[in-house]
Amino acid sequence: MTTAKNILVIEDDENLSSYVSASLTKNGYRVATTPTGRSGLRMVSSLSPSVILLDLGLPDIDGCDLLTQLRSGSRIPVIVISARTEEKEKVKALDLGADDYITKPFGTEELMARIRTSLRHSGECAPCRFYKALNLAIDMEKRTVHLEGERVHLTQIEYQILTLLAAHSGRVLPYDSIMNAIWGPYMVDNNRILRVNMANIRRKIEKNPAHPEYVFTEIGVGYRMRENEIC
Ligand code: CA
Repeated sequence: MTTAKNILVIEDDENLSSYVSASLTKNGYRVATTPTGRSGLRMVSSLSPSVILLDLGLPDIDGCDLLTQLRSGSRIPVIVISARTEEKEKVKALDLGADDYITKPFGTEELMARIRTSLRHSGECAPCRFYKALNLAIDMEKRTVHLEGERVHLTQIEYQILTLLAAHSGRVLPYDSIMNAIWGPYMVDNNRILRVNMANIRRKIEKNPAHPEYVFTEIGVGYRMRENEIC
């Protein structure tokens, strides 16, 4: 039997904290909670959690400062819990080394998916060469994309964007990191070229591009691809 993974929840909202705690326990995780950043930092060293859930609005330490402190000493995945209106904060937290964020209010299923993804990315496993979700299949060795068994023809750039997202499926990729990875750091065009390419990708792989099933927009932050079902 494998030992249960430890999750540390640093959150001062009591209702939210007990909801998260109950959901995690039900799903087989061991949970420790604390309402303050200072005790959170102490618990990180005493518990060595597998994942940390971090609220940015804490009573004693600013969540972003706490994240910086955490990152200076460890690579434990941090999922930031944030409010819907805090796009700039989400981007800042990702820049400071958070692995992902989850927006309040969130459901158990979404929370579990984020945690699974973070655990997977923190593991030592080799990058996955195959992506499969619903009716979309990508073979990164053969460089092929199939939708419902039919070959999808993408341009070189569209393919690069799609496979970058697939390699990080389940996690948000900020616009800037995608721009950087595909066009390099000197392309300055306010993400317009990325939006144009994404519109083309969606036309080719989504049944209804306005309600995507594969690549979701995280408004003001970036894109998130549906979790890979096979690895
Ligand atoms: Ca709070």
